[in-house]
Amino acid sequence: MKMETKAVHAGDRQADPKNPSGFVPVTPPIFASASFLYADTARRDRVLGHEEEGFCYARYQNPTRAALEQTLAELENGAGALACSSGMMAMQMALLTALTDRRKTILAASALYGATLNLLAKVLEPMGVETDFVDICDLPAVRAKLAARPYGCVLMETISNPLLRVGAVDSIAEAAREAGAALVVDNTFASPLLVRPLELGANLSVHSLTKFLSGHGDVLGGAVIADASHLPVLESMSRISGPALGPFESYLTMRGVKTFPLRMERQCANACRVAAWLAAHPRVARVHYCGDPAHPDAAVIGRLLPEGLRGALVSFELRDAGKPEVFTFMDKLRVVVRGTSLGDVHSLVLYPLIASHRDLSRRQRARLGIHDNLVRLCLGIEAAEDIIADLEQALEA
Ligand SMILES: *Cc1c(COP(=O)(O)O)cnc(C)c1O
Repeated sequence: MKMETKAVHAGDRQADPKNPSGFVPVTPPIFASASFLYADTARRDRVLGHEEEGFCYARYQNPTRAALEQTLAELENGAGALACSSGMMAMQMALLTALTDRRKTILAASALYGATLNLLAKVLEPMGVETDFVDICDLPAVRAKLAARPYGCVLMETISNPLLRVGAVDSIAEAAREAGAALVVDNTFASPLLVRPLELGANLSVHSLTKFLSGHGDVLGGAVIADASHLPVLESMSRISGPALGPFESYLTMRGVKTFPLRMERQCANACRVAAWLAAHPRVARVHYCGDPAHPDAAVIGRLLPEGLRGALVSFELRDAGKPEVFTFMDKLRVVVRGTSLGDVHSLVLYPLIASHRDLSRRQRARLGIHDNLVRLCLGIEAAEDIIADLEQALEA
């Protein structure tokens, strides 16, 4: 089945043949209950003993969350999924799962979401997990690192923030597998419509559900989608430690997912138009966009991303601008929202210098290629004409 159909139908209308009332809700309701009982204790015993599927206690599983997890697993063709309280919790669960039976060493892409860098440095390193960094778009460098030292896992993002570089997930998966390392991919920026990392050989795919999948800026959530060999550990860890998403957020996310392919298509189309318009604007020095034929990873993009779907993000550099000029530009925007998120129905603008890359020194930012004039834009589903008109009036000197 195609993504659009799965997004609308997966997880819904699961009749329980043993439910004597017989009716089936058309969409999964919010099950706001901490525990679940059964008419006969023998059945509850079987459910608690994993001999029969069912629900006992909300930390183990909740029907609303289970419906969402089934949907997410289907979208990326995983063996199963875990919906978590945030994208960062999902990242932590994915890394703990990957490292359970492996060396406590991570080979990470040097360009990672800021909080992921903090998770590695401030949470995992003090627990004894060592991290090395590599330019994930430099395949020979990745192979050399994997040959030089045993790693438990490789960690990368499908599309990096904010310069939108794209690593060869398929080739890296192969190299990681040969080296005995798991591959964990943060697929938030690409979304399942553009890339399905497990199909390319990754073991665990991570999402911030806060972004494209819920899509309306009203949920904080995350997800891990696992292959068959990692799912049992992920599920067991979740039952024990309780990172799971609550039923209200699961319901909102489920509602968002139904229109996700439709929104994403429109957002990608808007990004394509706005990127071309920005590239021709005299006040814009440079545009970073995955649909640019001159993109440094154009060959990998052509291989991994579907035609016409080059992502909803566009980063651009304002000519001869520093902090004051970027502030003025941002303050003039009326349609585009100044927010620290992305993937919503409304277009969002972010200034990495004061937000995602605030904690880095100027020199660290320069090494990553993030200059003081760089702005990140995530396109929403508004009419492209209105977004362009808004950018135009904000760029007027
Ligand atoms: C937002 C985001 C996260 C973290 O997700 P939260 O839901 O904010 O915890 C991780 N990775 C990427 C790429 C993100 O954009």
